[in-house]
Amino acid sequence: MRPYLAAVCLLALSAHAVDSGHILRGYTPQDSATEVNWEQKFRAIPEADRIRETMRRLSARPHHLGSPYDKDNAEWLLAQLKSYGIDAKIEQFSTLFPTPKSRKLELLGAQPFTAKLQEPPLSIDPTSGQTSEQLPTYNAYSRDGDVTAPLVYVNYGRPEDYDVLDRMGVSVKGAIVIARYGASWRGIKPKVAAEHGAVGCIIYSDPRDDGYFRGNPYPEGPMRPAEGAQRGSVMDMPVYPGDPQTPGVGAVAGAKLIPLDQVQTITKIPVLPISWTDAEPFLKALGGATVPEAWRGALPFTYHVGPSTAKAHLAVAFNWDRKPLYDVIARIPGAKYPDEWVVRGNHHDAWVNGAEDPVSGASPQLEEARALGELLKQGWKPQRTLIYCFWDGEEPALLGSTEWAEAHADELKQHAVAYFNSDGNSRGYFRAEGSHSLENFVNEVVKDIQDPETKMSVWKRVRLVDIANAAAQQDKDDIRNRADLRIPALGSGSDYTVFVDHLGVASVNLGYGGEDEGGGQYHSIYDDFYYYTHFMDTTFSYERALAQTAGTMVMRMADADILPFQFSDLADTVHLYVTQLKKLADDQRAEAKERNLEIEEGVYQALHDPKKHMVPPPAEAVPPYLNFAPLDQASDDLTEAATAFDGAYTAADGSAPEALNGDLIRSERLLTDARGLPNRPWFQHLLYAPGFYTGYGVKTIPGVREAIEQKQWSQADEQIRRVSAALERQAALLKQATKQLSPRPESHLSEAQ
Ligand SMILES: [Zn+2]
Repeated sequence: MRPYLAAVCLLALSAHAVDSGHILRGYTPQDSATEVNWEQKFRAIPEADRIRETMRRLSARPHHLGSPYDKDNAEWLLAQLKSYGIDAKIEQFSTLFPTPKSRKLELLGAQPFTAKLQEPPLSIDPTSGQTSEQLPTYNAYSRDGDVTAPLVYVNYGRPEDYDVLDRMGVSVKGAIVIARYGASWRGIKPKVAAEHGAVGCIIYSDPRDDGYFRGNPYPEGPMRPAEGAQRGSVMDMPVYPGDPQTPGVGAVAGAKLIPLDQVQTITKIPVLPISWTDAEPFLKALGGATVPEAWRGALPFTYHVGPSTAKAHLAVAFNWDRKPLYDVIARIPGAKYPDEWVVRGNHHDAWVNGAEDPVSGASPQLEEARALGELLKQGWKPQRTLIYCFWDGEEPALLGSTEWAEAHADELKQHAVAYFNSDGNSRGYFRAEGSHSLENFVNEVVKDIQDPETKMSVWKRVRLVDIANAAAQQDKDDIRNRADLRIPALGSGSDYTVFVDHLGVASVNLGYGGEDEGGGQYHSIYDDFYYYTHFMDTTFSYERALAQTAGTMVMRMADADILPFQFSDLADTVHLYVTQLKKLADDQRAEAKERNLEIEEGVYQALHDPKKHMVPPPAEAVPPYLNFAPLDQASDDLTEAATAFDGAYTAADGSAPEALNGDLIRSERLLTDARGLPNRPWFQHLLYAPGFYTGYGVKTIPGVREAIEQKQWSQADEQIRRVSAALERQAALLKQATKQLSPRPESHLSEAQ
C-alpha cells in the first residue's frame, strides 16, 4: 500500500462528502441558495448506464472525419439534443484532410524486410475487425514523398536529442531518422528532423513507453500489442492549428484557400508511424555506437545510433481532399444576460472507433445536456446563454473547434465568458488545467463534487494525492499552505486551443484519470467499447462524475450575479512564472560560463577515449543580463490590484452593474496581443502557448521563455516589455472594476458570525 492511501481512508471516515453550506462566490445569499438547490438537482440526474449506451452507439463503427459514421453520429447527436428540448443545429465546414493512397516501408540490403503496416483484428474484440471502414496507420499532414537513405536512431527526436548526436559526431543529414513515440508531441519529431537535414521520418511505439514493459499487452491487459501502431497528426500546429488552407478565418463555403504548395504547416519530409514489430529489423540494422542509457527502449537487443549500412526505402502518397466537417452546436438562451455566453465542448470524431478518445468525454457531455434539458422542464432558466458543442475533426488538427471559432471570432470576442473543454476520460483523480483567473472557481466547484470511490470531495482527494506525489518538501508545503490547488497552464492537444490562445477566452480543460494503467490503445483500432469496458472506467462512475463536474461548472458560471473570476491566484502564478524565467536566464549564463571554462581547461581532451568517438562541444557566447524590471513592476502592480479587487469582491453585496461583468469578460482578452507571438501570429495569448519545440507541452510567458531558450536576447527584452504592458492593462482594468463593487451593508456583521 502506498502511504497516501492510508491517509485517504482515515479522512474518508470522518469527512462529510461535500460542503454546500457556504454562500457561492459571486452570488447574493438568496441567489446562492437557489443555485445550490438547482445544482444538487442537476447532479442527481446523470446515469452511468445511459452514458455506457451512448458510448456503445458512438463507438460502434469507425468515425473519422469524412467517414459515413462520422456524419451519422453528428446527426444522431443532433436528434438527441433536440429530444431533450434543446435548440441545436449542425454547422458545416470544409477542410483539408489527407488520407493515404499508398504507404511503403522496406529495408534494403542483405536482409531485406517489408513492413506490414497493419494492425491485426482480434477475435475477442468485435469492432477491431471492421477493416473496410478503418483508416490505415499513418500520420496526417505528412507530405508525399519517396526516399531511400541510411537510418539514424534519434531517441524521442527532441532538439536536445540532436545535441547528443552532435557530441557523438553523428549527423542525420540525408538520412531517414527513426524516432520513438513519447516525450514530445509527435509533430515535433519530423519538424526537428527536417531542420537537421533528414529526408524522412519513421516513428515507432517502443514497448518501454506504452507496451509490455509497462503492463500486459492487449487483449490480456491494456498496453499496446506487438503490432499496434499510433495514428496521429504531424501538422506543425504550434504555428497554427485548424484547416491549413484557411489560417485565421473559418473554412466556410467560398472561403479563399491558400494553395497547397504554399501551406506552412504540412511536414517538410515524409513521415510514417509503425509498430515495434515492424520497427525491429530497422533498429537491428543500425550500426555505430551504443546509445546512451536514457535512449534505450525495451526490445531484447542492443540499441545503436547508426547510421545503418543497409538503406531504408520510405514512400507515402496521400489523397489531398477537402472533407465535409459537422460541428453539432446546441444553444440554451440566457434569461437575464443572453449576450454573455458560456461555451462547453468535446469532440465527437475519432481516429478509429475511439471509445476512450473522444467518446468517453463526448458521452458524459451528452448526458450533461440531457440533465440540463430536464432542469429546463422543471423550471430552471440559465441567466447566461449556454452553448454546447460537439466538435468534428479534432484528431487531424483541431479542425472543428478552430474553424467554428474563427468563423465566429468577432461574436466570441464580444460575448464569450469562458470555455470548458473535455476529451478522453477515465477512472481516478480530478485534473484540470486552464486560465488562472478561473483557478479559484475550479477549486470551489470541485469541493462540491463527490468522488465515486472514496466518497470524499474530489477536491479533497486530489489535494491529498498531490501531497503524496509531490517530490520536494517545498512542493508538499505549498499545497498544504495554499488555499487553492494550483492548476497547470494550457498547452495544446485539444479543442480549447483556439479559445484561449487565439481569442483570449478564459478556458479550462477538465477530466478524471490516473488510476487505470493504460494508453496502449491510443489512436489504434483497439480503442473501442470492448477495451474501455474491460480496462478503463468499467462502472462508468467517473463518466458520471465528469458530467456532474462539467455541468456544475457551466451552471455556476452561467447563473452568477457577478462572474466568479478571481485574480489573486493569477497574480501569484504570474509571479511564479517571472521567478522561473529569471532562474532560466541565470542557469543558462552559469552553464555557458562553466562549459567555456571546461573547454579552456582542457577537460574534453582529458575525457577523450580513443575507442569512443566524442566531439567536444563548441564554445558559447555568454548570455547577457536581461532587464526584468518591467516584469517585476507589472507583476507587483497586478498583485496589488488583484488583492484590492478580490477583497472588494468578497465584501460586495453580490449585485453588480452590467459594466462590471463586461469588464470581467474582457479581462482574459487583455492578456492577448493582436500581433501574436514571434513567428506565429495566430497565437496571441502572452501568458500561455504550446511550445514551438514541445507541441502539446505548455510554455508560460512564451515570448520571453522561448527567446531565452533559443538565445535571442534582444527579442527577449522586447517580449518582456510586451508582456509587462499586458499585465499593466490587466491591473488597470481591475482597479476600475474594484470601484464598481458596492460593499454589503452589514458585511462586518456577517463576517463576525
Ligand atoms: Zn481527443
